[in-house]
Amino acid sequence: MRRNRNVKIVATLGPASETYDMIRALHEAGTDVFRLNMSHGTHEEIREKHRIIREVERDVDRPIAILGDLQGPKLRVGTFANEAEELEIGATFRFDLDDADGDATRVYLPHPEIFAALKPGANLLVNDGKIRLRVENCGPDFAETRVIAGGTISNRKGVNVPDVILPLAALTEKDREDLEFICKLGVDWLALSFVQRPEDVHEARALVDGRAAIMVKVEKPAAMENFEAILDSCDGIMVARGDLGVEMPVHAVPPLQKKMIRLCRAAAKPVIVATQMLESMTASPLPTRAEVSDVATAIYEGTDAIMLSAESAAGQYPVEAVTMMDQIATEIEADPNYAQIIRASRGEHRGGGVAEAIVAAAREIAETTEIKAICCFTQSGTTALLTARERPGVPIVAMTHYRGTARRLALSWGCQCVMTAELSRFKQAVVNAVRAARAGGFAGNDDQIVVTAGVPFNMPGTTNILRVAPCDERLIYSSEPG
Ligand code: ATP
Ligand code: MG
Ligand code: MG
Repeated sequence: MRRNRNVKIVATLGPASETYDMIRALHEAGTDVFRLNMSHGTHEEIREKHRIIREVERDVDRPIAILGDLQGPKLRVGTFANEAEELEIGATFRFDLDDADGDATRVYLPHPEIFAALKPGANLLVNDGKIRLRVENCGPDFAETRVIAGGTISNRKGVNVPDVILPLAALTEKDREDLEFICKLGVDWLALSFVQRPEDVHEARALVDGRAAIMVKVEKPAAMENFEAILDSCDGIMVARGDLGVEMPVHAVPPLQKKMIRLCRAAAKPVIVATQMLESMTASPLPTRAEVSDVATAIYEGTDAIMLSAESAAGQYPVEAVTMMDQIATEIEADPNYAQIIRASRGEHRGGGVAEAIVAAAREIAETTEIKAICCFTQSGTTALLTARERPGVPIVAMTHYRGTARRLALSWGCQCVMTAELSRFKQAVVNAVRAARAGGFAGNDDQIVVTAGVPFNMPGTTNILRVAPCDERLIYSSEPG
């Protein structure tokens, strides 16, 4: 089952998407990466979703990435007796340290450090900034607020206090427990929330100890200030627009999104654009025109992946939302303007190494001849990432015998991953690449593909050979030297 697009789709799982049938339908509709948010649900619920994803992966026989997302020092309200309440403009609403269920007048906010730092006049923002409340009166265990912008407040919604500087630890106690749990379970990517400094990433990396690739969610102004050092320290970036658009003015977010996409591509690390992409589809089978444009913009900017949050986790139309993203991506990528924009933004980022030169040559051959795919043999995934950075006009078939590599690459632009046997000879690699290209529907008898690899095999980081191979199986055996 090949994908007919380069940009990848990440879908968050939640109560609306927890059965085998639903998760399989989401994958078939186009989901390449499933996100398990440790902020919601018990370990048992996470374990069950994880089990189902791996079952679907086995049944469809195609590598699927799992992204575990740590909550980080996110502030959240407690729960409500009625699950949700409507806050009207002008009403008063109280936050306190009483862990009883909330109602229309108050709710538990289990963070004494907020109450200690609040002052009258400060703003409290709830649910990615949709609800705004102004503090009128506060003490060490409560804050009385006036509703400035109303809306529905419900269980465990996030709270931001952009006017107040809070002492934030990078990893909370809960994060450390969740990290160990999810790494033991086995995830391909681990996302860190509210990262502010490269040291936050180093701390997590030591705990992860190679068990997952590390993604940084950029949602604090400090992360933007330290962006290049943070990008250096991690394996991928999520443009977490929900909290970012609350922590700084919403109109500051689009230029930062563009900047992050550009720098991630230069660094050959995948980037996800996240939050509110098709938000209205939580309750409607069709998105707004503006949402469609937002998804299209991220794709034109060259993002590796686009993400669904509540749309797939808690919405009424999870499969429709994935299908919509798939359709938008297919349409945009067919636009001649898209290829032109992506080519024009390639930049001069060749590191000067042999592998960089080989992947650039592969892309050039793809641009100037009729080859159908670039099949690259990769162990750590680096060669596939370098090839993806070139944004070639043909599919990248990433061939690896490491399942972890195949799964991790499911997030990267254009990479279609195929498991291959461990090889010792380039001749066998070419035969395997041709077979994979044919079996995946990338090429037929009269076509040619590019094959790249590193010989000797089993030495990561040695990509040093490129061959243009015919796909007629009768030809490859006779035409291959040694
Ligand atoms: P984050 O800041 O990590 O994105 P979030 O609260 O915004 O946290 P998302 O994963 O983006 O969480 O999901 C968006 C919304 O979908 C949540 O606010 C929540 O209402 C709902 N949701 C997601 N997953 C679950 C779940 N497992 N159980 C209950 N509700 C969920
Ligand atoms: Mg967030
Ligand atoms: Mg969110």
